[in-house]
Amino acid sequence: MYKAMNVLLIWVCGLATSAVLAKQTFHGDKVFRVKLQTEEHVALIHKMKEKIKLDFWHPDTADRMVPHMDADFRVNSDQAHSVSILLEQFSVPYEVLFHDLQEGIDAQLDNKKIQKSKGHSYTKYNTWEKIVEWTGNLAKKYPNLVKKVDIGKTVEGRPMYVLQVGNANSATKAIFMDCGIHAREWISPAFCQWFVKELIKGKNNIRELVKSLTFYILPVFNIDGYVWTWTEDRMWRKNRSPSDDGNCVGTDLNRNFNISWCDIGSSTEPCSEIYCGATAESEIEAKNVANFIRSHVDSIKAYISIHSYSQMLLYPFSYTYNLAPDHKELDEIAKGAVSELKGLYGTSYTYGPSASTIYPTAGSSDDWAYSVGIKYSFTFELRDKGKKGFLLPQSQIKATCQESTLAVAYIAKYVLAHSS
Ligand SMILES: [Zn+2]
Repeated sequence: MYKAMNVLLIWVCGLATSAVLAKQTFHGDKVFRVKLQTEEHVALIHKMKEKIKLDFWHPDTADRMVPHMDADFRVNSDQAHSVSILLEQFSVPYEVLFHDLQEGIDAQLDNKKIQKSKGHSYTKYNTWEKIVEWTGNLAKKYPNLVKKVDIGKTVEGRPMYVLQVGNANSATKAIFMDCGIHAREWISPAFCQWFVKELIKGKNNIRELVKSLTFYILPVFNIDGYVWTWTEDRMWRKNRSPSDDGNCVGTDLNRNFNISWCDIGSSTEPCSEIYCGATAESEIEAKNVANFIRSHVDSIKAYISIHSYSQMLLYPFSYTYNLAPDHKELDEIAKGAVSELKGLYGTSYTYGPSASTIYPTAGSSDDWAYSVGIKYSFTFELRDKGKKGFLLPQSQIKATCQESTLAVAYIAKYVLAHSS
């Protein structure tokens, strides 16, 4: 089987281009969805990956591919044609999610009227500068409700602020929520901003939460990476710390937490998209968040991390298929939360323990939070299911955030009623 393929791959390899440092464009790049049916299909993609750069969107690494899974990955324009030939030659069913990725990137900013407005908006993707401005304005406008808490700086020196939202005292139960740990998942920071708005001026049943709960919300976890997706490479995922050998940039912050660190579903190879870092908490951003949570661990009753995409609500464990001691309760909560979410626009979410529902990963923040005693630990994978993937159009921000707010509020109310 592999002889014909090797010939093609040698040819394809000759066309490979080296990385460029200018702002990257994606004209002609394609995103494939491959419907893996057999072990042979999985082996073929692995073989391809040795020769062609495949940027995995889902799962987030080729190692997590198994038969009967859909694998989404991006291929550079000069190699896309060869990939389709190979897939056809080996009868692997596939569809093309993006025929020209740059068109998808441009189409993301689809509500032109809002896009033209210069200021911050809850229904558009805001640059980091706009988010900083928004953070400062909120703290000024609502001094009794919103406080900026400095938790440290990123590797490139940008300040990380947690927004403390609530008017209860420090003994109150608290919920920590972060967005944007993976830079290219833009809908995630958009959701954190939306949720803060709901807590301040949303409907009564959301606003009343802040009377008895404190929310710690980190609107963008991976700030340097987020800035990089705006200025240089829209498809960037990791943070921006250079590796010790200086050959590669970036650690996957969601593999850098101190829980079964760098064991399963992560890589010790600094160039990998799922590089776990030199040591657990080697990355300043992960360390800042972990330090903040450690110092508030008595009051923090729930940890919620927002990602995209694939429409899932996940809970521990990620690093093992074993069920968490609180599995039954977490499953019940997840079931209730996704049902609330679906009630608004009919959007379906699957739910379950991370390892078996999406794929196993070690060193992730939700498992770590659970391990330090935060029982109610959840990860959302927001819209969509891959049609637009990381390039969810701006016109979907509002509906996505509205429905997700209901799910988060459901968890918050449960935690308020049931945590000690
Ligand atoms: Zn993610």
